[in-house]
Amino acid sequence: MDTTSAASRPSVRSTVHGYPRIGPARELKRASESYWKGATTAAELDTIAADLRRGVYAALREAGVDDIPSNTFSYYDQVLDTAVLFDLVPSRFPSPAQAEDREEQLRRYFALARGEQGAPPLEMTKWFDTNYHYLVPELSPSTRPRLVGDKPVVEFREAAEAGFPTRPVLVGPLTFLLLAKAGTDAPEGWEPIALLDGLLDAYAALLRELAAAGATEVQLDEPILATDEGRAALGHLERCYQRLGSLTERPALLVSTYFGSIGADALRVLKQAPVEAVGLDLVTDAEGVDDLTAVSGLGSTRLVAGVVDGRNVWRTDLPAAVAELGTLLALTDELTVSTSCSLLHVPIDLDAETSLAPELRAALAFARQKAEEVALLGRVLSEGSDAGYRSDVEPRDPSFTDARVRARLDALGPEAYARPQDRVVPAVRPLATTTIGSFPQTPELRRARAAHRRGELATEEYKALLRAEIDRVITLQEEIGLDVLVHGEPERNDMVQYFAEQLEGYATTEHGWVQSYGSRCVRPPILFGDVARPAPMTVEWITYAQSRTDKPVKGMLTGPVTMLAWSFVRTDQPLGETARQVGLALRDEVADLERAGIRHIQVDEAALRELLPLRAERRPAYLRWAVDAFRLATSGVASTTTIHTHMCYSEFNQIVDGIEALDADVTSVEAARSRMELVEALGRRGYGRGIGPGVYDIHSPRVPSVEEVEASLRLAVSHVDAAHLWANPDCGLKTRGYAETEQALRNMVEAARRVRVDLPGT
Ligand code: GLN
Ligand code: ZN
Repeated sequence: MDTTSAASRPSVRSTVHGYPRIGPARELKRASESYWKGATTAAELDTIAADLRRGVYAALREAGVDDIPSNTFSYYDQVLDTAVLFDLVPSRFPSPAQAEDREEQLRRYFALARGEQGAPPLEMTKWFDTNYHYLVPELSPSTRPRLVGDKPVVEFREAAEAGFPTRPVLVGPLTFLLLAKAGTDAPEGWEPIALLDGLLDAYAALLRELAAAGATEVQLDEPILATDEGRAALGHLERCYQRLGSLTERPALLVSTYFGSIGADALRVLKQAPVEAVGLDLVTDAEGVDDLTAVSGLGSTRLVAGVVDGRNVWRTDLPAAVAELGTLLALTDELTVSTSCSLLHVPIDLDAETSLAPELRAALAFARQKAEEVALLGRVLSEGSDAGYRSDVEPRDPSFTDARVRARLDALGPEAYARPQDRVVPAVRPLATTTIGSFPQTPELRRARAAHRRGELATEEYKALLRAEIDRVITLQEEIGLDVLVHGEPERNDMVQYFAEQLEGYATTEHGWVQSYGSRCVRPPILFGDVARPAPMTVEWITYAQSRTDKPVKGMLTGPVTMLAWSFVRTDQPLGETARQVGLALRDEVADLERAGIRHIQVDEAALRELLPLRAERRPAYLRWAVDAFRLATSGVASTTTIHTHMCYSEFNQIVDGIEALDADVTSVEAARSRMELVEALGRRGYGRGIGPGVYDIHSPRVPSVEEVEASLRLAVSHVDAAHLWANPDCGLKTRGYAETEQALRNMVEAARRVRVDLPGT
């Protein structure tokens, strides 16, 4: 393929930034959940985890990857692991490092993630713009970072003993501190970055230990550099890597960045720092190569080039990648081919899928196949042979296009995207109580769904079970005294998959699980073609629920942005175009619900914040298409129909403009874990629509007391007019059990009642 002689050919290596940790059959989920229930011991859990780690090393070696990472495993989250490693644990929790035995140590570790009576867990939030969630460390001026754990060292040794020399992966110090937040005991204005010097000492101690254990290279992940905040922290960046780079006994350092380009300024800092390698994401945006050119290449610093998309499922265009890598060779002396980010974000193995259409399968690659791609690219570049990869790129299958959908969208005018501004939304009552949609999914339901799927339970019987479940959920809500009821979503396996299964242009997988948080895994569908709705998707269930009660039942749909965010989406057209197709399909569903007499319709945009570009300059364009797609879905209704939307935990302050632009009548959001900050922000700007700040955290099994919920609601009414306030949990209840759900909702209804009676005029 080229004429360079073998002697002058560069040595090109291959690696991946990380690999899924849940196991091919979600072994980690099963094992940790069984441990939490008390059914297995810490030792049993540790054994399963060690097997999974070994499986990953073996899979990467088998794929032909040269440099294998370790410490990519976590029982819950790598940011939590880092906090525990350096003793950065808030004082309401006993430190896992001081536990007297392994059992107690693990118990304390999981308590940080899941909470325990009297101690709410660490806040959980999205890892950059992915659907993975990390736990937010809480730091304060009295925090003393010090190396108290040995997880990276232990896992490095364990791998080495099994015959795998590895490169331990750590969350970088800058990313760690910029993702952390000030604990409640920190003074106003104090920021975690103040701990940088102390933390660097702790990292230095760890690097020395890793070197002593035989590690020759360590990867420090600094994805924060793809954000505006990281790009503005160049002084700190320099401090980090000057300090760590100048240690005498240390492994080689690879500073890895991903989820976007880092800009020429940050790249210059890294190039000049005494580190051996820099990892760049060359997939997410087109600027990485420009940055490299702007700094005149990396010189003797090794470039770890992320050319294989680590977070989407499409095959790499190998000839294009070879050409790009060829260009990169001019900009660096040493090159490693890699994934754009950790493969944590994609399913493990395409070979496990047996029922995908062949023309779709031909376009796909999961983690194992992507590992094979980097290995292949490494070989092609260093051996100069193109054997083993197809040089032809498959054209898109024509069946992926739907001319009717395109024509309908083109014919729509601006009126399709706007509701009347003078509409009068029928009031329910101040502090009206409701839920976000789903009720607990019982084991019986899951079993019935599985049996139905396997053809062992007749559709009519399955539907009868669902109706019985709806009856029970409606009765329960009436009995608890909620104001706006839901049907409970028993028919849904997942809020995106349920719709994807019924929409054209979408495929679903059988085993394509991806970790979302802790033991929670999701199976994102694949949006590969033009989207259309052949038939109503939810009307049967919502109208059945409404037929069982005189109270209003709220219909539940998943919004366009969320349908994209939690799927693997085609990359051959702008996301906004794809979102509008989904919006159009939902618009038809909304119209059918309204026609069937449903007066409250919720279109969940749980992921609105998640897709928000990491850099501010790109946000207005994103919000424009996100808002358009939502409004396309919701603007066809009469003014007497109440449009609700729901968004999951996020820093909402960044998108209040977006929330307003969606023009929903009621927006319910997470607020419990972030202490009603949003309500304060909305109050300040005189927000005039309905808002339901989540009054308790459904991600934890803890039942909030009446007093606790009451305090949140009182805080909320001090900022926002009670007529606009709704009381609801902060997310759907499907992952909870019935006992705790019922108690929590009763407490919520009672708290709302107490606050309501004190309102002026009541
Ligand atoms: N309506 C969905 C539910 O209640 C919303 C879930 C979500 O926001 N993640 O489950
Ligand atoms: Zn939610």
